[in-house]
Amino acid sequence: MNQLVEVKVPDIGDYSDVPVIEIHVKVGDTVAIEDALVTLESDKATMDVPSSAAGVVKELRVSMGDKISEGTVVVVLEAAASSTAAAAPVAAPAPVKEAAPVAVPVALPAGSYNGPVDIECEMLVLGAGPGGYSAAFRSADLGMNTVLVERYSTLGGVCLNVGCIPSKALLHTAAIMDEAQHMSSHGITFAKPEVDLNKLRDYKDSVIKKLTGGLAGMAKARKVTTVRGVGQFLDAHHIEVTETTGTGSETIGVKKVVRFAKAIIAAGSRVVLLPFIPQDPRIVDSTGALELRQVPKKMLIIGGGIIGLEMGTVYSSLGARLDVVEMMDGLMQGADRDLVKVWQKYNEHRFDNIYVNTKTVAVEAREEGIYVTFEKANDKSTAPAEPQRYDMVLVAVGRAPNGLLIGADKAGVAVTDRGFINVDAQMRTNVPHIFAIGDIVGQPMLAHKAVHEAHVAAEAAFGEKSFFDVRQIPSVAYTDPEVAWAGMTEDQAKAEGLKVGKGVFPWAASGRAIANGRDEGFTKLIFDQETGRVIGGGIVGTGAGDLISEVCLAIEMGADAVDVGKTIHPHPTLGESVGMAAEVFKGHCTDLPPQKKK
Ligand code: FAD
Repeated sequence: MNQLVEVKVPDIGDYSDVPVIEIHVKVGDTVAIEDALVTLESDKATMDVPSSAAGVVKELRVSMGDKISEGTVVVVLEAAASSTAAAAPVAAPAPVKEAAPVAVPVALPAGSYNGPVDIECEMLVLGAGPGGYSAAFRSADLGMNTVLVERYSTLGGVCLNVGCIPSKALLHTAAIMDEAQHMSSHGITFAKPEVDLNKLRDYKDSVIKKLTGGLAGMAKARKVTTVRGVGQFLDAHHIEVTETTGTGSETIGVKKVVRFAKAIIAAGSRVVLLPFIPQDPRIVDSTGALELRQVPKKMLIIGGGIIGLEMGTVYSSLGARLDVVEMMDGLMQGADRDLVKVWQKYNEHRFDNIYVNTKTVAVEAREEGIYVTFEKANDKSTAPAEPQRYDMVLVAVGRAPNGLLIGADKAGVAVTDRGFINVDAQMRTNVPHIFAIGDIVGQPMLAHKAVHEAHVAAEAAFGEKSFFDVRQIPSVAYTDPEVAWAGMTEDQAKAEGLKVGKGVFPWAASGRAIANGRDEGFTKLIFDQETGRVIGGGIVGTGAGDLISEVCLAIEMGADAVDVGKTIHPHPTLGESVGMAAEVFKGHCTDLPPQKKK
């Protein structure tokens, strides 16, 4: 007899309320196990929700734009009893997991290697991004004999080579150019800047070289053995490294086998590509955009998340006119809308068009330009029906984890169909002596999360009682103004029906912001109504990314409004705005007009 089965969103890491951007099935469709049902898109990545059973779709329980989390029912299937092993019957729901339960050893088919060994070590770290090098250095500092495997010629991974650092080097340049122009309103007029793209690229590269060179030196000082090449597990205690050459990951056939007692997988993530986009030098991902090959007249950013908007800021300051297209109903998803509104207003001058609620459906490369066709997701979209011409297109629709590319199955490590590796609070995979950290274990894909996880994994592997137990992971858009948030957002609190209070200090009342000629921002603290503790905060304004650190500390320390408000902050600084937001919550901020009694 056929039975009805609810297919739910599996474990998607720390993320909740992730918007549905694509629905792949309709009622009546037949699906197989692992077929993609819907695609979700967070501010940093896209992920498919696979079907955990085979059958016919009887009911579709989600719509485009719905924000869904682990456990949300996506479809109800009519399935043959034999095909529902991993799924939950409607009558007796059971949790559906993409991968094996974390920290519980499972018998997955694993390899068994008995051949020669070139290097032996206590700790093997695969991948030298911020997660990997931090894990290797911490392991070595704890006294473990450590090998670090990296396919590229420099350490530092995405963050140092093609991510956080080069983007910030260029954003700094863009900010100085914008600031210089802004000075004309202060009576100081600079000549129009002359841009030498080659020199700017050299400067960016020199920043990368300084940092990655520093890492190589620190690895040496710690006696971490770095092995250059592509690593593939042979079994749960051996990895084969195929040597690479040049600056890329071209292999040269020479292989080495490393035997390890313990391992930390830190193989990171890669750019998500849209299948219908043709190969053309005028179409780039974030790595291509950082190469600064040209400054186009008219540029389209596909994907209105942080990475796209940061790169858009750089190109716009260098002279490009921008369009941005985003599936969701607003840019910079994840941040409270009031913060984003301030950024958007300040940046209106950069954009010709902002198409939200809009899907990109076709891209054609012609000699005279790149033609892009949009489709309205609903009536709120203002996208034109006819294809639009651009000189350059940046595709910034998210990143995918590398879990399926490292031979993890040979080591018995469970990987989800999207390539994520599930871990427990000590960053341990289902194989007890193998840990995983960073982008490969889930959202948010951020360097500071990877580094924190790295320390936990190394310490746990060494035998210490370390756990990943945090109250907040901050996010920052290093745009102008910057937008930063940590802990609970106001929108999230509303969606979850939590009783929260807030204190908002407008920078229009900050002496320092006014003196800087940049008083468009504000600082907001979110408090638990019952305990009075700070549980979240958001800042929009110049330097918000630095200012949010105090909010992070307040959340972690369980500080309340009195702790923050009574802390003497230096005057005149933008940092004062954090203390003043706490005073606003208490109702006695003397830098604002008298507040109504609560
Ligand atoms: P990665 O940095 O991806 O490193 C993984 C490493 O493993 C790579 O070096 C890779 O070559 C290596 N590797 C993979 N497979 C193998 C294999 N089989 N053999 C050998 N080596 C292998 N985050 C922030 O926190 N702040 C920011 O401002 C920020 N800006 C960003 C800007 C851009 C344009 C991009 C793309 C990302 C940005 N990020 C930012 C995200 C950040 O870069 C990542 O979250 C971070 O690099 C993840 O670190 P990781 O160690 O997990 O992996």
